[in-house]
Amino acid sequence: MRVLAFLDGTLADPDVPRIRIDDLGLMRGDGVFETILVTDGTPRELRPHLDRLARSAGMLDLPEPDDEAWQRAVATVIDNWQGDAEFAIKLVYTRGPESDPSAAVTTFALGLDIAEKIVRAREEGLSVITLERGIEPELAERAPWLLLGAKSLSYAVNMAAGREAARRDADDVVFTATDGTVLEGPTSNVIVARGRTLFTPPANIGILPGTTQAAVFRAAERTGWSTKIEPLRLEDLRTADGVFLASSVRKLTRVHTLDGEPLADSTAIHRELADAYDSLYR
Ligand code: PLP
Repeated sequence: MRVLAFLDGTLADPDVPRIRIDDLGLMRGDGVFETILVTDGTPRELRPHLDRLARSAGMLDLPEPDDEAWQRAVATVIDNWQGDAEFAIKLVYTRGPESDPSAAVTTFALGLDIAEKIVRAREEGLSVITLERGIEPELAERAPWLLLGAKSLSYAVNMAAGREAARRDADDVVFTATDGTVLEGPTSNVIVARGRTLFTPPANIGILPGTTQAAVFRAAERTGWSTKIEPLRLEDLRTADGVFLASSVRKLTRVHTLDGEPLADSTAIHRELADAYDSLYR
């Protein structure tokens, strides 16, 4: 099932072509996006998602998003969704058609079903490989034009990493920096549990500040966990009590195997943290 809404709150048929052929989002991946999880009619972390949309747009020198209009589009999709109680809404914002700079930017919100594979991984966990990202942790701050940490539409590299994982019989990827520090997954943040403390790398090393990671930390703190944002090395993952990938649609997913080696069984920790996270929205 799919529901398409524009920013004035109008609905449209998602099967009718609407994007101009020279849209810069299509031609150059020149735009930004967000993916929001909706459960039982509630969009999770809507405020952080809209704030991050504005931040990404700012990094790409796009006009500031109309916050109210985006909220209206999200509400329209939710009001008209007749599918499963859990679904995703993708917000897409591109620079618009190249041949017509006076034309408005391209914007829409699209409700989508969640792939069965993603739902299954929440229960079964993931086999993950590490892949080099080719950047050093200091690069993001030195070279803002690389847009590291923006949620831009240029995700070809992220998608290629997923295919590389499949070629190596793994489910997902953790990117590493040139100095071996842990960055993020192609569509997720890395969270590590050690004792009663959760760790995640800082966003200023060129990764996306995750809305789910932040929510998981908030939930964990409520139930007595400590949380720390600090650089992680691969060895920290190998010796952890639990390694998790967090993102809006996958929620909190356990990593059971890293580069072919089994990790500590984190089933119980995962259940506790996943419950704490879900309880934020009950
Ligand atoms: N890092 C990257 C590169 C992502 O694409 C995503 C989400 O798709 C995340 C992290 C996790 O972000 P969030 O939890 O806000 O979905």
